[in-house]
Parts: sequence; C-alpha cells; structure tokens
Amino acid sequence: MQIYYEKDSNPAILKGKKIAIIGYGSQGHAHANNLKESGVDVIVGELPGSDNYKKAETAGFTVTDAGTATANADIIVILLPDELQGGIYREAIAPNLKQGAYLMFAHGFNIHYGQIVPRSDVNVFMVAPKGPGHLVRHEYQKGGGVPALIAIHHDPAGNTKEIAMAYACAIGAGRAGIIQTSFKEETETDLFGEQAVLCGGITALIQAGYETLVEAGYSPEMAYFECLHETKLIVDLIYEGGIANMRYSVSNTAEYGDLTRGPRVITEDTKDEMRQILTEIQNGEFAREWMLENQANKPVFNALRRQAADHPIEEVGARLRSMMAWIGNSKIVDKTKN
Ligand code: NDP
Ligand code: MG
Repeated sequence: MQIYYEKDSNPAILKGKKIAIIGYGSQGHAHANNLKESGVDVIVGELPGSDNYKKAETAGFTVTDAGTATANADIIVILLPDELQGGIYREAIAPNLKQGAYLMFAHGFNIHYGQIVPRSDVNVFMVAPKGPGHLVRHEYQKGGGVPALIAIHHDPAGNTKEIAMAYACAIGAGRAGIIQTSFKEETETDLFGEQAVLCGGITALIQAGYETLVEAGYSPEMAYFECLHETKLIVDLIYEGGIANMRYSVSNTAEYGDLTRGPRVITEDTKDEMRQILTEIQNGEFAREWMLENQANKPVFNALRRQAADHPIEEVGARLRSMMAWIGNSKIVDKTKN
C-alpha cells in the first residue's frame, strides 16, 4: 500500500483559493488553525450567536453563517455533526455553492449513505484525520501530525486528488502519513473501529473490569487505577512500539496472564458480535437507526448518555484526577477555547 508524505504534495495548488471551514467544533477548530498556520486563506462558517462562533472570532478568523461562508469560498469543508450535515447542506450550502467548487468531508457517512448528493459540477473529496480533532491541533502544534485518509468521490476538475493531498499536508497529516481510500471503505472501517474497538469496545471493557472488582468488594479507587488509569499507560507502550513493546515492559507474570486470559475475555462469541456489528454498518442498518434516532430528537441517545454520566466510575475518577495536578496542566481539551 502506498503511503504519501509532505514530499509528495504540491502546497502551491492551494494558493489563491479560499477555504471555508463550516463548523468550528472538534475537527473544525483544528483544521482552521492548522491551515492558517500553514499559510492557507481560511474563513469560518458557524451558527451566529453560538459559543463556537465566538471562539472562532477570538482565534482571529473572519466568521459568518454557513451560507455566506460557502458563497465566498472555493473549497467548502463540511465539519458539522454528521447527523446535521444533510439538512444544513440542503438549506444553506447547496444554494450557495459556486460553479466548480470543491466540497470536502472528514468522514464519508453522508456521501456514502446518500444523505448528501452534490451537483455534478462540484468536486467531492475527503480528508479524514485518524484521530480526534483536539489531537489534530495538539500534534500539529508540537511539529507532528495525525495520519489521514484521503478519498476522491467526484473529480470534474481533474485535480481533486492534488487538492486533497495539499489540504491533508496543510493540517499536518503529511508528517505522519496519508493513505488513499474510498468513501465506502473509510465510512465502514471508521464506524466499525469506533463501535467495536476504540470507543465502544474499550469503554465496555474498562467498565466491566471496574464493576467486577467493585462488586467483589475491592475499593472503587483501586478499581479505577487498575482498570481505567493504567489503560493509558499500557496503550502508550502499544502506541510507541506495538503490542510486543508493551509485553517487553510488563512482567513475565503479566505477559503470561495476558496471553492465556485475554482470549477468555474477548472470545469467539465477541468476534461473532463484531461481525454482526460490521454487517449492520455494511447494510445501512446502523445509518438508518442513527438518522431515525435524530429525527425523533435522540430519546435513546439522551437516556444512554445520562446513564453513562451517572456511572460511579466517573465520580471516583473526577476525585482521583483532581489529586493528579499534572493531568490538568497540559489538557488537550480546553472547553473555553476549543
Ligand atoms: P462537532 O460536533 O465537534 O462540531 C460541529 C460544529 O458545527 C459545532 O461547532 C457546531 O456548533 C457547528 N454547527 C452546528 N450547526 C451549525 C450550523 N447550522 N451552521 C454552522 N455551524 C454549525 O463535530 P466533529 O468535529 O466531531 O465532526 C465534524 C466532522 O468530522 C464529522 O463528519 C465527523 O464524522 C468528522 N470527524 C470527527 C472526528 C472527531 O475527532 N470528532 C474524527 C474524524 C472525523 P455548536 O456546537 O455551537 O452547535
Ligand atoms: Mg472515527
């Protein structure tokens, strides 16, 4: 598989082009600030009166509503919540898109599942950073970057891939690696990863371990350190040098327990469930459920969010983290600014 880096890109292709970042949230603030520091001409489209509108102004951007920003830009970058993109596209973006404009996404959901169908003169591409928005900003500021996927959906101009590459490099991805994919592959693997492993899998694993210890009479503080806090320390070692690197660092006892007990926790049944989750992504069932949930004003989502926020692990964690001052000193998420 070919991996692209900064040397493979032509940053000059963005010269003279105005980029509108629509939505100054997790990804939006990161893209806007990284692009600006890479010398690209950026404006922001946000909801007038919202907190994020003010944050973008405070960061020094020209900020307008989504429609006005679209009308004034050559490349329109849709960094709105996936569930709102279809509605905002139809109302504010589509009517204002210049002839031959470029439309960019950071996730393939709305194109792949047909929620947005752009006009045929519009170039459609994706630059999907493989990390949370706050890290896209944080890594760039450290001189690094988060890897990204690029994909080309529609290319009447003939140079959409060059534009995508230059954009990916301008947000820092060219320092880490850029891989070309399709909207279908990105959408399906991204949803699967966040559901089965990164967000769903890991939080369910941490909570189940925590509950098992607390229900057996161990203190919540012990359970928190063991099952949640230490996860990061272990993942840091895996991130740095793979699973083998982590196993090199832990004791032989831990490694033996890992190799013999891990497969008893994540079993063939778990993998069957993972396959089922993947099928629901591939056949559109998950997308339909999520779109309908939003049309109904998110009753299930709100209830689950509330229940999760009330889990005792959150209260114990808040208390323990307040004693570890260094964690707060270098926060990646600062809700007053990003
Ligand atoms: P966020 O929810 O963090 O940000 C969306 C922003 O859009 C918010 O600032 C929101 O404002 C704003 N917004 C809402 N309605 C309007 C409107 N009518 N006009 C203008 N702005 C509006 O989204 P994410 O950054 O999480 O996601 C953006 C895209 O990036 C999605 O496609 C997602 O899949 C993709 N992505 C996200 C990743 C992530 O790390 N979060 C990782 C990779 C891809 P307000 O909050 O004031 O309502
Ligand atoms: Mg993801």
